[in-house]
Parts: sequence; structure tokens; C-alpha cells
Amino acid sequence: EVTRLNNRAIDLIGAVADAIVENKEFLTSLDAAIGDADHGINMARGVEAVRAKVTAAPGADIGALLKTTGMTLISTVGGASGPLYGTAFMRAAGAAQGKTELDGETVKQMLAAAIQGIKDRGKAARGEKTMLDALEPAFDAFVESLEAQKPLVDCLEAATEAARQGVAFTKTIIATKGRASYLGERSLGHQDPGATSSTILLATITDFCRK
Ligand code: ADP
Ligand code: MG
Ligand code: MG
Repeated sequence: EVTRLNNRAIDLIGAVADAIVENKEFLTSLDAAIGDADHGINMARGVEAVRAKVTAAPGADIGALLKTTGMTLISTVGGASGPLYGTAFMRAAGAAQGKTELDGETVKQMLAAAIQGIKDRGKAARGEKTMLDALEPAFDAFVESLEAQKPLVDCLEAATEAARQGVAFTKTIIATKGRASYLGERSLGHQDPGATSSTILLATITDFCRK
């Protein structure tokens, strides 16, 4: 199954930007509990800059759009999340180079590359209360659905659901990477802001692809 994104990629970026901006206060409040109360502010600044960039330079293929997205996040987001998400999008861009539409296998490669980029950059692993605790289970669920020959949107739906469960799991573990790790046991009971923003990204992409 092939989902055509060529004329919709910029609209999708807009939908993601809207979703992050809508959740700006929520994400910041999560970061206030275990970090420095800026995750929503950081992400909203980043996605608004990305929206402006890609709107000004439309017509590129998906790889080029994602490369612009990653570079813009790295240069505009001050926090840890900027370089991490920025690297993720740059790596996903590499897997989508020259593409004007995406199939399940390509999306799988993009997700794998994005996650590897986050790990290379942040040196975290699953279970340390970071965005990886949403993204890695999401990837596993995506692959499982893809191997079961499910349509791409259903694979994305499964990934989003797994990410939601991953966010819930982050409440039960102690942070050992990022600012929240300074809190030690006091990070227990709180969901990770980055895992939450990752899940919002996946949910928005899934909803968009359903339309
Ligand atoms: P900062 O912590 O610099 O203020 P943000 O608040 O924007 O940056 O982002 C915090 C989020 O970044 C965390 O909730 C976590 O998900 C993620 N994060 C922090 N460090 C790492 C890391 N080493 N690897 C993966 N994700 C990380
Ligand atoms: Mg922060
Ligand atoms: Mg900060």
C-alpha cells in the first residue's frame, strides 16, 4: 500500500505544528514537574520555525522537507530536545531521500533511522525515561503490523497506541538521562515530556494519514 504524501507533506507539517502549539502548556507543565519547564516552549518555537521555513520553500521532495525540518529544529530549539529531534528528522530525511510518496517499508526505515539518530546523539537506551520509551515500542508495533501486511495507517495507529503505553510506562521508572535524572527517585510518578511530545507527533501523523 502506498500513501501519497507529495502534495500533502507541507500540510502534514502544519498539522504537526498545530498539535504541538495546542499542547505547548501541557508539555511545559510536564517539564515543570521533572525538568526546567520549557519543553512545550522549546517544541513550539521549533515547529513554528519549521512551518515558516517549509512554507517559504515548497515543492521539495519528502527527504528535502525533512532535512529542512531537522536543520531548523537544531538551529532554533535551545534544549536537549532540539538536537535530538533535529537529528531524528535529519536521519529520517536520509531514508526518504528523493521520495515524493511513502510506503510502509520506507516509513519503517525512516523510523529506524530516526531512533538510531536519537541514540547516537543522546546515548540513552529504552528504560531511561526519555522519548525513546515512546518511540522504540512504537517502532516495534509498527514493524509487527507491517509484517502482518496491515495497511500503513493501521501500522501507524498501532505505533501510536504503543507510544501511549510507553508514556504511561515512563511514570513508573526513574530518569537516568536528561535533566529529570537530577531528581532521581523524585522523577517517579511523572510522565516524560519528550515521550509525550513524541506520541503527539505520531498521533498527529496517524490522524492526518487517515484523512
Ligand atoms: P531540556 O531538558 O534541555 O530543557 P527539553 O525540556 O526540551 O530540553 O526536552 C526534555 C526531553 O528531552 C526529556 O523529556 C526527554 O524525553 C528528552 N531527553 C533528554 N535527554 C535525552 C537523551 N539523552 N536521550 C533521549 N532523550 C532525551
Ligand atoms: Mg526542559
Ligand atoms: Mg531547558
